[in-house]
Formats: sequence, structure tokens, C-alpha cells
Amino acid sequence: MERQAAVSRRDFLRGGRRDTPAAIRPPGVDAAALAACTGCGACVEHCPTHIVSLVDGLPVLDFRAGECTFCGACAAHCPEPVFTGAPVDRFDYVAAIAASCLPFQGVDCQACRDACPTGAIRFRPVRGGPFVPELIAEACTGCGACIAVCPVGAVAAVTANREAVHA
Ligand code: SF4
Ligand code: SF4
Ligand code: SF4
Repeated sequence: MERQAAVSRRDFLRGGRRDTPAAIRPPGVDAAALAACTGCGACVEHCPTHIVSLVDGLPVLDFRAGECTFCGACAAHCPEPVFTGAPVDRFDYVAAIAASCLPFQGVDCQACRDACPTGAIRFRPVRGGPFVPELIAEACTGCGACIAVCPVGAVAAVTANREAVHA
């Protein structure tokens, strides 16, 4: 039996009722504790995938530069009480693919599936065209690995609304 729910095609393509977050913080950041950030840049320096930068003196992630592996280096090297300290293995975001995605334009591409470490993107056949992607929302950690590899920039992180997924 299929145990994982798939986002409806409309929600997947359009983001549905979900919103693009204004700023994605490193995993484990306690939003209420962000005021304790001094902008020292330790998280920027130690992120192995180089996705952390300081914007307005606070750490944000840019998945166009790469993925978050949830390695915890940013939290481990932060000298201030900005992180919760609890292990984190997923964001409150999931991937969403826009209608500009190549297969929906009739061009074959499965780069996002190949990059996804959790198998959260599957492709289904469509009569008369290339296979098209579907997101398995429950399997998506929001790591962002699918974002940088998309040749047309069709993938974005959106606020997870796991109640909105449909079987
Ligand atoms: S958990 Fe690791 S990969 Fe993710 S932002 Fe922090 S240092 Fe970078
Ligand atoms: S954000 Fe990460 S887990 Fe989610 S679909 Fe993209 S690569 Fe897979
Ligand atoms: S990598 Fe981009 S264009 Fe290719 S299938 Fe995935 S979302 Fe579509």
C-alpha cells in the first residue's frame, strides 16, 4: 500500500495555499533567540556546502548555492544561544515546482529526482510527453538539493502544509 501522500498537481505546481518563507534560517535556529545573534559569521565560515550568509546581520540559507545536509556544523560553532541545541533533520519547508518545469513544457528532465537524497520526487508517465515530477511531501526534508540543480529555476522552498497533501 502507498503510505506516502503526494501533493496534488495543483498544489505541487503552484505552491497551493503555501507561502514562500521570507528568510530560511539554518536548521535548529530558535527564531525567538535570533536577537542573540551577533553576526559573528561562525555559521557562515563552517557550513561545508557554503549556503549560509549574513543578511542584515542574521544568518540565512541560499539553496541556489547548494543543499543543507543537516550536519549541524552551524549550530556546533555558534558561540551564542541562537540554536535550540536539539538535532534537526528537516525544515518546516518543502519543495514546490513551478509550471516552468521542463517536463511540463514537453522537455525531458529528471535532475531534481537524481539530486534528492530522500527519494521525495518521483516521476509519473504522461501520455504523449516526458515523465512529469510529483513530490512526496512526507519524504521531503526541505534540504534544497533539488533547487540548485534545476536548469530552469523551477524549484522553490515553500512553507510546509502537510495537512494539505492528498493521497
Ligand atoms: S546544518 Fe550544515 S549544511 Fe546545513 S546550514 Fe548548517 S552547516 Fe550548512
Ligand atoms: S528539498 Fe530535498 S528532500 Fe525535498 S524534494 Fe528537494 S531534494 Fe528532495
Ligand atoms: S530539475 Fe527542474 S526542470 Fe527538471 S524535472 Fe526537476 S523541477 Fe523540472
